[in-house]
Amino acid sequence: MTRPDFDVLIGGGGMVGAALAALLASRTGPGQLRIALVEPRPTLMPLPQEPLDVRVSAVSRAGQRLLAEVGAWPLLSSRSPAAYEQMIVWDAQDPPDGPNALVFDAAEIGEPDLGHIVENQAIAASLIERAIALGVTLLRTPVVGLQLERDRAVVDLGERRVSTALVVAADGAESPMRHLAGLRGDPTPYPQTAIVTHLRPEKPHGAAARQRFLPGGPLALLPLADGRVSLVWSLPPAQANALMALNDDAFSSAVTAASDAVLGQLDVVAQRGSFPLRHFNAAHYAATRFVLVGDAAHAVHPLAGQGVNQGFLDVLALADEIVAERARRGDIGDPGPLGRYARARQADNAVFGAALDAIYRVYTDERAWIRGARRRLLGLAQRLGPVKQHLVSRALLG
Ligand SMILES: Cc1cc2nc3c(=O)[nH]c(=O)nc-3n(C[C@H](O)[C@H](O)[C@H](O)COP(=O)(O)OP(=O)(O)OC[C@H]3O[C@@H](n4cnc5c(N)ncnc54)[C@H](O)[C@@H]3O)c2cc1C
Repeated sequence: MTRPDFDVLIGGGGMVGAALAALLASRTGPGQLRIALVEPRPTLMPLPQEPLDVRVSAVSRAGQRLLAEVGAWPLLSSRSPAAYEQMIVWDAQDPPDGPNALVFDAAEIGEPDLGHIVENQAIAASLIERAIALGVTLLRTPVVGLQLERDRAVVDLGERRVSTALVVAADGAESPMRHLAGLRGDPTPYPQTAIVTHLRPEKPHGAAARQRFLPGGPLALLPLADGRVSLVWSLPPAQANALMALNDDAFSSAVTAASDAVLGQLDVVAQRGSFPLRHFNAAHYAATRFVLVGDAAHAVHPLAGQGVNQGFLDVLALADEIVAERARRGDIGDPGPLGRYARARQADNAVFGAALDAIYRVYTDERAWIRGARRRLLGLAQRLGPVKQHLVSRALLG
């Protein structure tokens, strides 16, 4: 058998695919693993003077450790990651400072913060920069075809075909590669759209991430380093469309009212973006010489800000299997290590996704008895120390 062109080919250089490329290269050392990262879109680090993009993520401390391990975290300083030290979650029927609000505080568990709000584009660009520096080959083209064979995979990149021992699909929730590999599990749409933008609040945000559960869906205000807050407002598509059509003044008034003026008047200071929301967890994460990671494998509602953090956990688990198999001089496309990765991550993402889906359903159900019960739910969690501790460490670990 002739040697394939690459050991690992990762399709999709978003935050998750780029993290896997950089981590594998950094853990195996120069030239030990021939890695290709295939990404058709330009992924340049935004210039320091460019305004912060409206797509940002709450990156957990586990995610930050991964970014630091591969040397990407220092590159992000020009885009000012904002630490958040508190999370305050409350139901629209209650005030944010009342006994029924749930407050997570980093100080309570002796940590400096609960995570950072970071620009998605900067995360992907910093990881790609590090991956290239660590010897990864970046191919600027889409994957358009796959042939998965017993002893190798052949990947069609349009203008040429390359062979590899293992293909990793990190090409997002619609994942053309998942379809090409014949793995089922299409995303189910939520009847919700998320509106994102940046707002200037009248009152200081105090390094707290806030989320108010409204009947139509949650409204989150995430602190940014320059005193602004990033909005993620999930609501039924018709309402989202109506809000998107408002002028800035009317939108600012609407979001101020919906936030219960928790930070006083909120003024919109960036363009608005809207994203349809969906959820799914692929039934199988692996096929012959093929695995799924990140949103290509699972997608969740953004209400807990954990989608990419779950993807980073996939990256850590898959890298462990690949590096161990390589150390044993085994075949990294072997069903053994791929199956171990797939079972462990599929199960973890299933539990996590089901929990988020349950929260989504409870908080958008307007039946009187559920409205009554959920009022007490957050306050109860606040008063039950061990439950809260568990939730905080889950948020910290990712
Ligand atoms: C409103 C909103 C708010 C969110 N907030 C948070 C948050 O606070 N914290 C958090 O953890 N998560 C959050 N998420 C989830 C997070 O954005 C996703 O989990 C994350 O972007 C997934 O990253 P990924 O790299 O797996 O996929 P993607 O970001 O979708 O990247 C996929 C990449 O694959 C490339 N690609 C596509 N097709 C091909 C092809 N054929 N060949 C090669 N490449 C291809 C694309 O160009 C793209 O670069 C949020 C999501 C939404 C919608």
